[in-house]
Amino acid sequence: MQIQQRKFIVAPEPVVLPVTGEDAVFAVRRLYCVGRNYVDHIREMKEGDERDPPFFFQKPADAIVLDGEAVAYPAFTDDFQHEVELVAAIGRGGRDIPVAQALEHVFGYAVGIDLTRRDRQREAREARLPWEVGKSFDRSAPCGPIHPAAAVGHIGAGTIALSVNGVVRQTGDIGQMIWNVAEIVANLSRHYALAPGDLVFTGTPAGVGPVVPGDRLEATVAGLAPLVITIAEQER
Ligand code: MN
Repeated sequence: MQIQQRKFIVAPEPVVLPVTGEDAVFAVRRLYCVGRNYVDHIREMKEGDERDPPFFFQKPADAIVLDGEAVAYPAFTDDFQHEVELVAAIGRGGRDIPVAQALEHVFGYAVGIDLTRRDRQREAREARLPWEVGKSFDRSAPCGPIHPAAAVGHIGAGTIALSVNGVVRQTGDIGQMIWNVAEIVANLSRHYALAPGDLVFTGTPAGVGPVVPGDRLEATVAGLAPLVITIAEQER
């Protein structure tokens, strides 16, 4: 069988994440985020009913930032904030996945940060407009290396934390999630057909706050390699 050589007019670079213990990389397809998933963060944001079902938004795959990189302070905000999150990496696709089988679709886990233009997000929420400008901008999704579940197991408990310049700002436990990873994957697969390469940011605990150029952020989840990024001056 002959494989036809396709020529591209433009060819964007694929977005890939390293996988611990492997030479092969993980190609990212879509990036889903859970909007609210820890009670204490819902309370600090003063929004919503704590028993509401999870809701989802997306970031573009090329918003990924790798461990060790710098993120320039973005334009169009005066309140640029961090949200540390456990990231589940989908290895097998599906739709209407039952909760009991959902973890079979998770290839592995990483530490992520959902970077947010909080002022723009609040404005959009109050005006009942889409969240894109507050959430789905360039370089808004730092993500560490993916750890295969075959090596580290599935993550249902353990400390999740974020420090800025060595000072702890966010701390919680994965076990405090209102919707656990299996429930999130099952619910998400009713809204969208999941496919290999999808990442799911699973929500943030309390303590979100602003960052400024020069800050060093270290995000951790027990059992996973930390994710470190720095905030750089705004690009002009
Ligand atoms: Mn978030």
